[in-house]
Amino acid sequence: MAVIRFKALEQVFNRKPNHVPPPSDKTSDYYAINVFDRPKMQKYLSRDSFYHVMDAIDKGTPIDRRKADSVAAGMKAWATERGATHYTHWFQPLTGGTAEKHDAFIQPTQYGGVVETFAGDALAQQEPDASSFPSGGIRNTFEARGYTAWDPTSPAFILDNTLSIPTVFFSYTGEALDHKTPLLKALNVVDKAATDVCQLFDKNVTKVNANLGWEQEYFLIDEALYYARPDLALTGRTLMGHASAKDQQLDDHYFGSIPERVTAFMHNLESECYKLGIPVTTRHNEVAPSQYELAPVFEECNLAVDHNVLLMDVMKKVSRHHGFRVLFHEKPFQAINGSGKHNNWSLSTDTGVILHKPGKNPKSNLQFITFVVNTIKAVFDHQDLLRASIASASNAHRLGANEAPPAILSCFLGSEVSAMLDQLEEQVTSRKMTPDEKTALKLDIGKIPEILLDNTDRNRTSPFAFTGNRFEFRAVGGSCNPATPMTILNAAVAAQLIEFKKEVDALIESGVKKDEAIFQVLREYIIASKAIRFEGDNYSDNWVKEAAKRGLTNITDVPEALAAYLSDKTKKLFYGLGIFTETELEGRAEVMFEEYTKKIQIEARVLGDLSINHIVPTAVKYQNRLVENVLGLKQIYGDEFKNLAGNRIELIKEISDHVTAIKNGVNEMVEARKVANKMDDEKEKAKAYSKKVAPFLNKIRYHIDKLELIVDDEIWPLPKYRELLFSS
Ligand code: ADP
Ligand code: MG
Repeated sequence: MAVIRFKALEQVFNRKPNHVPPPSDKTSDYYAINVFDRPKMQKYLSRDSFYHVMDAIDKGTPIDRRKADSVAAGMKAWATERGATHYTHWFQPLTGGTAEKHDAFIQPTQYGGVVETFAGDALAQQEPDASSFPSGGIRNTFEARGYTAWDPTSPAFILDNTLSIPTVFFSYTGEALDHKTPLLKALNVVDKAATDVCQLFDKNVTKVNANLGWEQEYFLIDEALYYARPDLALTGRTLMGHASAKDQQLDDHYFGSIPERVTAFMHNLESECYKLGIPVTTRHNEVAPSQYELAPVFEECNLAVDHNVLLMDVMKKVSRHHGFRVLFHEKPFQAINGSGKHNNWSLSTDTGVILHKPGKNPKSNLQFITFVVNTIKAVFDHQDLLRASIASASNAHRLGANEAPPAILSCFLGSEVSAMLDQLEEQVTSRKMTPDEKTALKLDIGKIPEILLDNTDRNRTSPFAFTGNRFEFRAVGGSCNPATPMTILNAAVAAQLIEFKKEVDALIESGVKKDEAIFQVLREYIIASKAIRFEGDNYSDNWVKEAAKRGLTNITDVPEALAAYLSDKTKKLFYGLGIFTETELEGRAEVMFEEYTKKIQIEARVLGDLSINHIVPTAVKYQNRLVENVLGLKQIYGDEFKNLAGNRIELIKEISDHVTAIKNGVNEMVEARKVANKMDDEKEKAKAYSKKVAPFLNKIRYHIDKLELIVDDEIWPLPKYRELLFSS
């Protein structure tokens, strides 16, 4: 009996919305109550320490160890007042997700009893026993020590009675073992490079921030059904399941009214986010049934990344209070939309200007065009690396599918900006421009309207779209840590801006006027990067052909895409900017190949188990019933039975064929795994998993999904798509 499936459905049937009231009706009353932000620092730190930390945040100056004691004391005072009993260094290892090891504040005294302590050393640096975090061979076992160090630019927060301190994580020998370290380095270089370029336009600019506003898509699945699907629970996606007769074809879920159980979850989630100072603002249904999205107001990139990974954690916790499981996997269900995490990215100055937003006059518009063109050029030059930054076993299922960009990278600009670049290309020449020509061009540049946020002009199929005041990197997957694509995008743009400044300076030195030097270099870039600009439908077959003609790469295979991490171009970029050393880069690539292999390996094992232990026995059971039926008919009707049992005899045969195909498929898949597992080189192993093992997942699934349509619903063991997707 398929007991579990029906028991699970019964639980779903009895669920009630769980309305958890927020701490106060007014959000501003409790916003960031659990964050040690600037106002709280001002209250709990000495004047001296406060300014010391402010400098560390705003200017990147190192924290003095002696000051750390007083900062730690202030933090502890605040945290214990808020009920915190423990503290932890909170970091983002290469496993994905976050890591933490909690320590209590208490220390026994010689008089019996305990006191709460938290020294500067405990705040500044910790040595977690980190030997089991992935490092790609950087840490051999005798140097298994890893260190975490406080990142003062992201404020400490309290989660579940624990003071959590955002930290970087690195090895005994100093190599980064996390996502935050390279991100901070990339943000630092893009700040310097962009500030230098801004100086061409405005001497008052002393700092440039990268901004990130992520949009997180996710599915909510009933917990009981989730547990009844071992594939979902173990791999994050369904490895089998015939499409529901109705799914998203009516487009009735997108922006539709949100079911009450889900609304209760969202309210609860939002109040938890607000306590943590995560400024979530939008929420809505997504295209697929049971799919939703939420997005905050954009923030400084490092903080935004921390908030995204923290949010994912909070979502997992809150969803359980509502009988849900949240799925971030890029493609949990075949044939319906998957989940992305659009990364809205821009640069802005400490003078309050968004550099990717058109300005109010010709000068600020020239600055805007400068940043747009340099961004496009960076995307063109580093398209392979950007693709690698979002490549993963799970995102591979999403790229190229509906509402998701293909594996070809291209930039959408919209008609107005496109026209402006075309004009610049046409009007600027390498000879000296006449004053009239220059004035005309400046006037044209001045005509770019300040508000370009025209929704009709948006291209939803573009992997990297300009959307009025930012670029939206839409190829990023729902489950990934946005630190990786953000590190690479910011690094690529930084390198490009450095190059731009160098070229402009050289022209100025040779006697060309500043404006004209800028025009000339921009024109060169516009021409050089033209191939990456595409305004049409990225899902069309024509684009695939056209892109190939333009020489753009289209790599759908994950290990092949990841190989871009080790290309000469990438090495030059990262070593040149000091973002990764050779050891770090090679280690990181190895971790990614290994992760890919493991993900496919787990999927293959789970599918093998489910096939042999759940599906085949169920199919055989049903087949036996048919056999019994046919034999019974024969007993009653003698030779006549064939006329009566014809289609059942066919079904018996059909089931046999599918069962045989499944069994053979599983056997062959196991053999392919054995061959791959013997390989020592992680890249070769990943390739073998991609080319030789992964194809069996679909082959086997095909037959299982056919059986699902044949076998009696009463005995089918796993919740079906219609049940998983339409139960809230
Ligand atoms: P849509 O779904 O229409 O793309 P959303 O409102 O869901 O838009 O999300 C847009 C995201 O982009 C939000 O996080 C928003 O704060 C962010 N954003 C807006 N302007 C900028 C900008 N200049 N730089 C970075 N992010 C931005
Ligand atoms: Mg968007």
